[in-house]
Amino acid sequence: MTEVKGVPFVDLVTPHVELEEELVGVARAVLRSGAFAGGPIVEEFEREFAKFCGSKHCIAVSNGTDALRFALMAAGIQSGDGVITVSNTFVATVEAIVQVGATPHFIDIDPRTFNMSVEALRQFLEVDCDRCERTGLPLHRSSRRRISAILPVHLYGQMADMEPIMALADQYGLIVIEDSCQAHGAEYQFGEEGTWRRAGSIGNAAAFSFYPTKNLGACGEAGAVTTNDENLAKKIRIIREHGQGQKYHHQVEGYNGRMDAMQAGFLKIKLRSMEKWNKERRAAAETYNRLLAGADGVITPYEPSWSRAVYHLYVVRATDRDDLQKYLGELKIGTALHYPIPLHLQPAYVHFGYRKGDLPITERLTSEILSLPMFPHILPSQLEYVAEKILLPAGEGGPRGRMRGTNVL
Ligand SMILES: *Cc1c(COP(=O)(O)O)cnc(C)c1O
Repeated sequence: MTEVKGVPFVDLVTPHVELEEELVGVARAVLRSGAFAGGPIVEEFEREFAKFCGSKHCIAVSNGTDALRFALMAAGIQSGDGVITVSNTFVATVEAIVQVGATPHFIDIDPRTFNMSVEALRQFLEVDCDRCERTGLPLHRSSRRRISAILPVHLYGQMADMEPIMALADQYGLIVIEDSCQAHGAEYQFGEEGTWRRAGSIGNAAAFSFYPTKNLGACGEAGAVTTNDENLAKKIRIIREHGQGQKYHHQVEGYNGRMDAMQAGFLKIKLRSMEKWNKERRAAAETYNRLLAGADGVITPYEPSWSRAVYHLYVVRATDRDDLQKYLGELKIGTALHYPIPLHLQPAYVHFGYRKGDLPITERLTSEILSLPMFPHILPSQLEYVAEKILLPAGEGGPRGRMRGTNVL
């Protein structure tokens, strides 16, 4: 067995080497077709990805940020509206809200799942909002802003607690757009021992990213919206194509938001490996969980009984995170922070008026989270190497300053 010398954070080469013949084949077919933006291969991918998600429609677009923005626009979210979301997410979640003219209202997260706290959502709606007498929609008390949508993020590959979120949305007349950019194939169980449904099949619409590092990644930029609502699907098809249903007949202000045929071709090939790759990610997570169980000062990810996560990222909490990250870096073990600064405290969003202390759980977790190497082709020996180095006692060169008995939430 070859000795492990470091572990990369992610491996974007091996899957493409494995599929090289097919990927080159599809690229050649696209070159010979002369159809480069949209076209039949994009439509084929849309049908296959909709089926994968268990959703009626899929609209392929140019990236995940456009997918979010088009979904919000098509659902009628506009200038003056408030959208409830979380702060520990990739910036694109909030860019999309702001770029349709709406305002993000950040709520706190569940410390175990890192996802939107249902309690915080309920509190926001019941305590921080009145009901508008005319529309019945929640009216944010201090800003007098009409709240029109909830944008939960299925972070790190695990779905937000969608059943109570959908129930609250229903009760308050709110649109739900799932940010599924990290959750291709993640599953959620409705009701006890009820049916399992996939990310992208539950809200009014969902946005996916096929950025190269995502569980399903293009060889470039790409994204998609899924929805069960035919009307929304129609609107999004128009928005992504310069606001036209028919060439040069522009019904609404639109965008250049199509998917490249070449990317659709690559995605079609890679989609066939998705179930296998997600299983490999889950198996790697189980191995980490087992090896790291009981590691002092390290908390492994929590998966509720209603969730089957696809581990886009494997994120632990560490009491001495910065020290642990530095130590692993010196051993050539790739790690990352998702994310180092929550969005409500980013310079770009200071004008929304949030301050340190507004989202205590989000802020606390920001200082504790550490993403360890995670990718479908990661080897057992690589997982063991990472775990072994984390478990090494400080006296034997292991990470400094890990506290005992801190595996509590
Ligand atoms: C990647 C990502 C996006 C944006 O996708 P792009 O394709 O990079 O535009 C949005 N939200 C989340 C949570 C993401 O991880």
